[in-house]
Amino acid sequence: MPTVVRVLVDLPRHSRLAAGALDYLEPPGAEPAVPLAPGTLVRVPLGRRQVCGLVWPHGEHGERSDGEAPPMDGLKAITEVLSALPPLSTAWLRLVAFAAAYYQRSPGEMALAVLPPELKDIDAAQLERRLRRLHKGLKAAAPEAAVADARPFRPDLSPEQAEVLRQLALGEPVTSLLHGVTGSGKTEIYLREAERVLAQGRQVLVLVPEINLTPQLEARFAQRFGASRLRALHSGLTPAQRLQNWLAVHLGHADLVLGTRLAIFAPLPRLGLIVVDEEHDPSYKQQEGARYSARDLAVYRGRLEGVPVLLGSATPSLETWLNAQPLGEAVQGRAQSRYRRLAMPSRIGAGALPAVKLLNLAEVVARHGRSVLYEMPIAPPLIERMKQCLARGEQSLVLLNRRGYAPVLHCTSCGWKSQCSQCSAWRVFHKIDRTLRCHHCGSVEPVMRSCPDCGDMDIQPLGRGTERLEEQLGALLPEARMARIDADTTRTRGSLEEQLAQVHDGHVDVLVGTQMVAKGHDFRRITLVIALNADAALFSQDFRAPERLFALLMQAAGRAGRDAEQAAASEMWVQTWHPSHPLYQALQRHDYVAFARSQLEERQIAGLPPYTHLALLRVEARDQASAQAFLQAATELAEGLDGTALSAGELLLYPPVPAQVQRVANVERVQMLLEASSRAVLQRFLSAWLDVLQAQRAALPKVLRWAVDVDPVSI
Ligand code: ADP
Ligand code: ZN
Ligand code: ZN
Repeated sequence: MPTVVRVLVDLPRHSRLAAGALDYLEPPGAEPAVPLAPGTLVRVPLGRRQVCGLVWPHGEHGERSDGEAPPMDGLKAITEVLSALPPLSTAWLRLVAFAAAYYQRSPGEMALAVLPPELKDIDAAQLERRLRRLHKGLKAAAPEAAVADARPFRPDLSPEQAEVLRQLALGEPVTSLLHGVTGSGKTEIYLREAERVLAQGRQVLVLVPEINLTPQLEARFAQRFGASRLRALHSGLTPAQRLQNWLAVHLGHADLVLGTRLAIFAPLPRLGLIVVDEEHDPSYKQQEGARYSARDLAVYRGRLEGVPVLLGSATPSLETWLNAQPLGEAVQGRAQSRYRRLAMPSRIGAGALPAVKLLNLAEVVARHGRSVLYEMPIAPPLIERMKQCLARGEQSLVLLNRRGYAPVLHCTSCGWKSQCSQCSAWRVFHKIDRTLRCHHCGSVEPVMRSCPDCGDMDIQPLGRGTERLEEQLGALLPEARMARIDADTTRTRGSLEEQLAQVHDGHVDVLVGTQMVAKGHDFRRITLVIALNADAALFSQDFRAPERLFALLMQAAGRAGRDAEQAAASEMWVQTWHPSHPLYQALQRHDYVAFARSQLEERQIAGLPPYTHLALLRVEARDQASAQAFLQAATELAEGLDGTALSAGELLLYPPVPAQVQRVANVERVQMLLEASSRAVLQRFLSAWLDVLQAQRAALPKVLRWAVDVDPVSI
């Protein structure tokens, strides 16, 4: 008699067909004695299609708990088994099961979303060809590996590094927070820990927030351990390359995996260490589909597999910071420490952190008149600083978190503005190709010759983005060699590396850029950093905006004076209307600890994370009324559902509000926030609520999509 196999396929949580795994019969002609192991990849018929599936365990993680054998009639058979691939491990399956449950997705959706895309499209024969290619590649690379094994250079450890490594060697594997200022040598800690783990024959997973940051970290790991032992996993790879790397990792041929958030699901049979660099970075949260946090899953995975997790940052997220408060220090209601806290408060080589200075815009206006703010891209005293920096042959960095030429065009006679016709947002003026581009829906139109409303020819840019900043600075400093790094100048593959190399090689005097340039880069000759338009984040409706601004400015400051010789003379300037704001005051003292303390106090009083747990229900509809109606119905369902948690005050539903950009591509977006006293309350409630929500949708045909975001990072 054929055996029934449970198979996960990519079906959403609320599909009528399956909330979990589907039943299939073993493929015809299979060996009856060997049941298919959970974690095996298969191809199965689904409707009229053939799709990729994953054999799922009976019981434990399956949702059928009645223990009864499923009926066999009408079941289809598995088409073929991708038997050349060893099954994914039990630990991997448990990671996926946990992520699916926690982020309110079906296990099938989760599992299939995190496998390499190409793996899902190929059959057994194609897979075998890919594996043959992989083995050929490995053989060819073997002689190179021998060369790399020649003793690489390792710097002598600083006293702080030595102490951190000593503590890491103590006791059971746990999660540790490495709180080290910029330039304190955190990477050397990752390298030494990796070395220790590799020596035990185990694998290391290193996560970085952005693809941009992989090449330089890759270079440092390759230099230390040899390029052939290392594989990258991120979405910037071609599908074929990503599959090759994934296979090498899964088969245990790679010892080091370096990747972005998706790499948290890398199948590592000999995992021995997980490193999460810049753990505070919001890029670790997936922003579509299954919205998982790779940082949080890293901590879970570490515990699951009994391996140490190392979270590194100069400005840890407040969630992590609270978890790392030392025992006994009764910090805001939590006496217990979950993570080990390790500190490296000094820069390598006794380099000082750059002095942070605030330029009071009110004083500038009093001196030079208000018009100077429109005429000059940067206040005159700072232009002077830039000139001096240039005269000394040093580099400066100007940070402006807004790309394009100007955020909006306007007509000087009638006041018309370049509103996007499909979104509640302006179209941004890009001078290079004379277009107006919506950064939300992507629509593009050429700049008109005259005002579409009144016909006047005088259309002017309002405000300033990086493109205009570069142009204006170029005019003010004609002898300076300028470069700009933002999403527009780095679109083509390799262009970012090229531009960074120009900066490193000293071919650039003034670097203009968005937050892309603030992160991670080990610039050696920058002595002046200027941050523009930082105030915007002080009064944002998103409660995390100050935390992000502080991290960004600390990071930006960290780009200056990385060479110990120049450190003492290095500065970061922030142009602001609010020089006495506590955030800037803490920044001036490089005092993350004080900043974190005051933020945590505010969060606790306001009942915000990390003291409470949030979820966001987002809905998109053809019109506002339908979106609102959906959320209204959702509220009523919630009240009927879990009245106890709601009335006990453990759970709070906020009224629906329009999303920050309310309309995108003619779709209305409304959201609703849920706040719970604990993760358990939130989980229990969401899982019951989502089961009944989908039924609501049928009554509201204009609702297009809805989704829940657990632990949202932007509100
Ligand atoms: P972080 O990641 O903490 O900002 P990095 O790891 O980039 O700092 O280190 C800053 C610089 O110091 C790098 O150029 C690195 O090569 C160098 N460095 C790190 N540790 C040492 C050491 N023990 N001795 C000498 N130089 C070091
Ligand atoms: Zn006009
Ligand atoms: Zn638009």
